Amino acid sequence: MADAANTTEVLVIGAGPVGLTLAVDLGRRGVRCTLIERKPAPEFLPKMERCNARTMEIFRRMGLSERIRASGLRADVPMDVYVVLAMNEPPLLRLPYPSVSESRARIAACTDGSMPLEPYQLISQYTLEPLLKSIAESLPTVTVRYGCEFLELTQDASGVTAVVHDAGQPEAIRAAFVVGCDGGGSAVRKQLGIQLHGEGDLLRLFQALYVCPALFDMIPIGDGPGHGRHYHVADDKATFLIMQDSTRHWTLHATVERPEDMARQFERTIGVPVEYEMLSAGQWRQNLLLADRYRDGRVFLAGDSAHLVIPTGGLGMNTGVGDAIDLSWKLQATLAGWAGPTLLDSYEIERRQVGDRNVAASRYASLGRRAWRSQYRPDIRDATPSGQAARDRLAEVANVEQRKTNEMIGAELGYRYVGSPVIADEPDGPEHLFREYVATTWPGSRLPHVWLTDGSALHDRIPDGYTLLRLGTTGANTSALERAMVATGAPFQTVTIDDAPPRDVYGYDFILVRPDLHVVWRGNQPPDDARALAALVTGRR
Ligand SMILES: Cc1cc2nc3c(=O)[nH]c(=O)nc-3n(C[C@H](O)[C@H](O)[C@H](O)COP(=O)(O)OP(=O)(O)OC[C@H]3O[C@@H](n4cnc5c(N)ncnc54)[C@H](O)[C@@H]3O)c2cc1C
Repeated sequence: MADAANTTEVLVIGAGPVGLTLAVDLGRRGVRCTLIERKPAPEFLPKMERCNARTMEIFRRMGLSERIRASGLRADVPMDVYVVLAMNEPPLLRLPYPSVSESRARIAACTDGSMPLEPYQLISQYTLEPLLKSIAESLPTVTVRYGCEFLELTQDASGVTAVVHDAGQPEAIRAAFVVGCDGGGSAVRKQLGIQLHGEGDLLRLFQALYVCPALFDMIPIGDGPGHGRHYHVADDKATFLIMQDSTRHWTLHATVERPEDMARQFERTIGVPVEYEMLSAGQWRQNLLLADRYRDGRVFLAGDSAHLVIPTGGLGMNTGVGDAIDLSWKLQATLAGWAGPTLLDSYEIERRQVGDRNVAASRYASLGRRAWRSQYRPDIRDATPSGQAARDRLAEVANVEQRKTNEMIGAELGYRYVGSPVIADEPDGPEHLFREYVATTWPGSRLPHVWLTDGSALHDRIPDGYTLLRLGTTGANTSALERAMVATGAPFQTVTIDDAPPRDVYGYDFILVRPDLHVVWRGNQPPDDARALAALVTGRR
């Protein structure tokens, strides 16, 4: 049995970006949690490199966005995407995408709620993980244990006992709740007998990491492409070069035979001699898989343990951060005693539908990639009419199909929790589009970002907990709703905003939002039954 030192409120298994984000958010909410990770330390291995706009909004709310930006790519570097024959030749296609600085200027000028409060940030996973680890370790409520592997668990009515191995020694940890953030091969998911369904092992590629400090400054090379983020090579090996956050490190993906082939593939892609070192090369598989369930009793799944997507579209870690932030405040509310049981039930209902949508969005983007790559012809490099025609055709198709990967603002911002038991649903509602985001306060949506007339962001005026926004010049009496919310014991405040922009964009006088800034109710009159609404949104109905 676990001794007192080995009891915790929440045990988080796996210190990838999702487990780390969850531990930090639980810790800052005052929840005692233990984060275990089987690796002895974070690894310098490349995976994700882009936190999307919604993830950066979440990190802003956690007070982390500036630290993350300070560790990531400089704000002035564009995110352009190129399709090339090689880096030293004129590109077949350039798709321009703004730098963080340019995005900020566009966001500053936007008044219709259609843009996020924060732009994306390019930061390599191997930079983000140590940063989040150091933040987790600085929180007195969080215990971080690397070199500690989860083996098995049992649960009963009052908690979960997990058996772990630390330095080869078995040990029991007792927790009120456990969250499996242990990635695609999740031992937690397997223990619970939860299956993944979808399409597995769709393609195998090698990925290699190179240190090549000169390359960034050499671009454009000759008539080659300019500074960008991704360089797709029009070949039959799905070759794809990615700039990492330092601009000194690069990764290359390709369907070569052996890891050693990745050196030659890098040189062929650059096209001119350059000093570099290949630091690692390994194989990875593309999957589109979703877990049947996200919960079993007191044990939850979040991140890649629950959904596996193809990186095309950048919806892997970013979806997992959304899981973490949906679950964190619900666990805290349950442990604090003010939440009804439906609040935790809503986690799977809300997040599994997003997982499902994002698996579909990733499939959509990767089919686009496959469509333009299918235009490759062996004579594509030839200085012949037929070679020129092959180049033109591939560029034309890529100009449509490659955009599916890079223009997913709807998937990033536009998800809405449909059919959630803790949201005052309105029938119908806008469709969740992958490519387009239209600002809406339909219950279940993320509250759109709006600037106030003093230049501050409304999001920043909303405290943690539930918030009733009173907008415009309404004089209606909302005291019954305020009393009902306070009576639940949930943290609650009313914020009155007289400025016109939020009322104009949101279209309602009253908006009730929850800690993760999703709308739970809206109206132009106070609700008919305030107590019933308060019970619903806090999970007591
Ligand atoms: C090449 C590539 C590029 C990508 N690009 C992007 C991108 O641009 N944007 C994006 O959003 N996503 C991207 N992804 C996906 C992203 O990397 C993953 O979605 C993300 O790592 C998932 O985070 P996670 O914390 O859920 O799982 P993981 O990162 O897999 O972390 C799980 C952790 O759990 C630990 N663990 C496993 N088993 C145990 C155990 N039994 N006990 C204790 N610890 C355990 C593991 O060691 C690991 O540290 C990319 C992936 C790849 C491969």
